[in-house]
Amino acid sequence: MARDPRYDILFEPVKIGPVTAPNRFYQVPHCTGMGWQRPHTLAEMRGVKAEGGWGVVCTEYNSIHPSSDDLPHPSASLWDDSDVRAHSVMTDKVHAHGALAGAELWYGGIRTANMMTREVAMELDSFPNSVGHPFQTRAMDKSDIKTFRHWHRRAALRAKEAEFDIVYVYATHGYLISNFLNPRMNTRGDEYGGSLVNRTRLVRELIEETKDAVGDRCAVAVRFSADEEIGEDGVPIYGERREMFEMLSELPDLWDINIADYSLEMGVSRFVKEAPLEPYMSFVKSVTSKPVVSVGRFTSPDTMVSQVKRGIVDLIGAARPSIADPFLPNKIKEGRIDSIRECIGCNVCYSGDSIGVPIRCTQNPTMGEEWRKGWHPEKIAPKESDSRVLIVGAGPTGLEAARALGERGYDVMLAEARRQLGGRVTAESTLPGMSEYARVRNYREQELQGLPNVEIYRESHLTAEDVFATEPDHVALATGASWRQERFDGETYVSVAAPGTSPEILTPDDIMGGAMPSGPVLVYDEDSYYLGGVIAEHLKLAGHKVALATPADTISDWAGKTSERWRVRTHLMKLGVETIVSHSLASFDGKKATLRCAYSGVKKPIAVASVVMVTQRRPNDALYHELLASVDGQIEKLPFTLKRIGDCEAPAIIAAATYAGHKYARELDASVDRDQPLRHDRIDVGAPSASTPVTGAV
Ligand code: ADP
Ligand code: SF4
Repeated sequence: MARDPRYDILFEPVKIGPVTAPNRFYQVPHCTGMGWQRPHTLAEMRGVKAEGGWGVVCTEYNSIHPSSDDLPHPSASLWDDSDVRAHSVMTDKVHAHGALAGAELWYGGIRTANMMTREVAMELDSFPNSVGHPFQTRAMDKSDIKTFRHWHRRAALRAKEAEFDIVYVYATHGYLISNFLNPRMNTRGDEYGGSLVNRTRLVRELIEETKDAVGDRCAVAVRFSADEEIGEDGVPIYGERREMFEMLSELPDLWDINIADYSLEMGVSRFVKEAPLEPYMSFVKSVTSKPVVSVGRFTSPDTMVSQVKRGIVDLIGAARPSIADPFLPNKIKEGRIDSIRECIGCNVCYSGDSIGVPIRCTQNPTMGEEWRKGWHPEKIAPKESDSRVLIVGAGPTGLEAARALGERGYDVMLAEARRQLGGRVTAESTLPGMSEYARVRNYREQELQGLPNVEIYRESHLTAEDVFATEPDHVALATGASWRQERFDGETYVSVAAPGTSPEILTPDDIMGGAMPSGPVLVYDEDSYYLGGVIAEHLKLAGHKVALATPADTISDWAGKTSERWRVRTHLMKLGVETIVSHSLASFDGKKATLRCAYSGVKKPIAVASVVMVTQRRPNDALYHELLASVDGQIEKLPFTLKRIGDCEAPAIIAAATYAGHKYARELDASVDRDQPLRHDRIDVGAPSASTPVTGAV
């Protein structure tokens, strides 16, 4: 298909200092939970993005010295020659597709406690660690600043040696360099503090020194916040930022602009929609002649074109859209816009770094699996047989299994009990702020339309008899899970209904099905992710008095990993939802819910007419057991292979569902080594040599 000429502008090359980006698609630095620990996994993933058309592909933050170590969050590093070798694997893969590779140099300062290296973190002053560790920083004296500049220069030289094309001075996000700019933090009495000229001195020196070190071949980029903060009215306060920007505007080769509020810049779709940074960017291009890149969870080519044409940016920055669809640029280029797998803004990708594990993505099940499993986002092995596959259930699991099997060329029957496809994402996307979750269904439904070998049977609730009647060779049960009315007390599931009562106890499935509680309501959240808060909001907006209680110490605890917990709680408080933490639900009699403090055991009554239990889910596996019972539990006696997949096997987040569906499709008829299902990316000390003592010999 030909590309729409309206989008031609996105494929113009952009000169960035001594290098030229082949187009305007720019994958900004983003964390991956891999960093220095998993160089092969990382390199393959970045290489796939270059293959998919991203003209620039950057690393995550690279520590420049062991006194800036972020474990358990796995950063990249540029400490020594082994880092140069590791990065070269990535730059080779990126260059192989004609893209530029960028390296972001980083020094954490107040945000790092150096739990791995045990080095003392340096900052412009003696500050408490800002991410909760009981450690303080050492106030840098002038010789420390000199040493720091030396480390930065050395790291830049290593980046050049590793064949990077763009090297960053990272002056935002509350890390060391940005703190020098901050008038409230930087109260130094020397030439690095006080006046605007003094506070910008370090950034200026770093730009100049990086240019001096590597500028003959590499572009020097600066990552910088356009604003100081957001006012009460939501309007950006530029403060001195504009003046600072004017002072530095022509120094670097590229400006990578973001904003002070990370929860907006990296906001979840529930609260933040496409292009949220535009109001902050208004002055930037008028002050510099250098190219500008910024992010905005851009998935619409029309928005991208509009950003460029209206002079907001020169390059379309993306982290999440490039994760959800590494081939987004090529799809626009080839006129395949309908096939773009749009990011849903769930931030599950970010949770990898929060937890210290490799990245995963709700929309793109191959993310992070490119090297260790050899999964490619756009290529899949053709079928190995003429088998017919029946998939029962068209939630995210069943849809992805059907799509990927269809791509492989199998004859697929996809049966869904309801009229609408999508299962849980269809249901959840009707709740406040959640509409973008429907993209999980929309992308797959769209792709299935182009696969004549996949037949979809709607309003087809299958029984065991129906399954046998279709005479399939393989059956995958993707029948999902249902929210329970009970709660798990640590050992077993228990009812919260007070003895002798049958109060109104609802589940999220009831609420998403249209049920409404009859009076004041308690949302009881043991799931601790987003749904409890979303249900509370939904009920509050419907006019109910709502309280949200959780046994965890914070509201939406797991949403801290996706960087949305703070917004969730603020939002609920603004809506007038009462929030109660560290309390489990002991009983409910229809008039009063009794909560118990997790620490003191003290009981707290709360007057409500109804309770919504957002606790655990029960797999919908009755069909599985029915099929097994027909052969006395001897699965090998069935005339087809049988597997539970997704929530039907083990309820989990949506990313686990799309992954399960994809895995099933990849592994059908394939020979998977059950003992070694994936490659292990870690430092290999090598086979023991004859000279290596193997016992306790000294
Ligand atoms: P997952 O997240 O694993 O995809 P969901 O709960 O989102 O699970 O989706 C499961 C889907 O399976 C739902 O759309 C549901 O209507 C459907 N389903 C459940 N049981 C049957 C059945 N026996 N026959 C057909 N469809 C079913
Ligand atoms: Fe987007 Fe969610 Fe994928 Fe991240 S995990 S890229 S937010 S769809």
